[in-house]
This record gives sequence, C-alpha cells and structure tokens, in this order.
Amino acid sequence: MKEISLQTRARFEMIDITAAVQKAAHEAKINSGIGLVYTPHTTAAITINENADPDVPRDILAALDRAVPFSSNYRHAEGNSAAHVKSSLVGASEMVIIENGNVILGTWQSIFFCEFDGPRTRKVFVKFFS
Ligand code: ZN
Repeated sequence: MKEISLQTRARFEMIDITAAVQKAAHEAKINSGIGLVYTPHTTAAITINENADPDVPRDILAALDRAVPFSSNYRHAEGNSAAHVKSSLVGASEMVIIENGNVILGTWQSIFFCEFDGPRTRKVFVKFFS
C-alpha cells in the first residue's frame, strides 16, 4: 500500500492527485490491474472529474455548499456536520484501471482529493491489485 500526504490550504478545496497516484503505480511496479484510491477521513472525499477547466471543481464545491449549507439545524457538537455529509455524498474512494503502468483516465478526467473542512494535514492510501 502506498500513502500520499497532503496539506490542504482552504476550508473547501479540490486537489488534483492524479500525478501522485500515477507515481505510486510506478513505484509499485504495477503493469496491469486496479488501484483503490482511498482517504481515511470523515470530512474529505475522493472523486474523478474534469480538471481541464478549473471552474468545474469550483462549481462542484459551490453546488455542494448550496446543497449542504455549512450552517443548518445540525446536532453534531464539533460544528462540521456539513463536511461529514459532503464526505458521505462524494465518497471516500475511487477505483482506477492501470494498464501498461498507466492510470487510465479520460481526456478531461483527473483524480481529486476533496477537502470539506480544511485546512488540515490529510492522507490518501492507494492499494493496487494485479
Ligand atoms: Zn465532526
């Protein structure tokens, strides 16, 4: 298993981790298989979406914030329930195909780490299966 460390810098943020996942696949010497990209946090998530236009991740974060407002009638005393809800909506993991040592993605796709309650020090685990 490979570990990717991240330092997020904003409360809400999507960080492209495609290159780090590709590097992990290279280090694991995986030629053909599957990579599980997983984050062990309850206020963060992993998703795959467009990175060609930086307005796409901005719009995703804004839409999630409209759907799940930071302040509402939440009970959780830590005060970050919106981040927990967004984490569950987006999900803690994605699976990617590895072929000929390369992470297979569409032309416009990137793998994103989604921060919903930053800034924090975060981890992503990548486990490869061949
Ligand atoms: Zn909490």
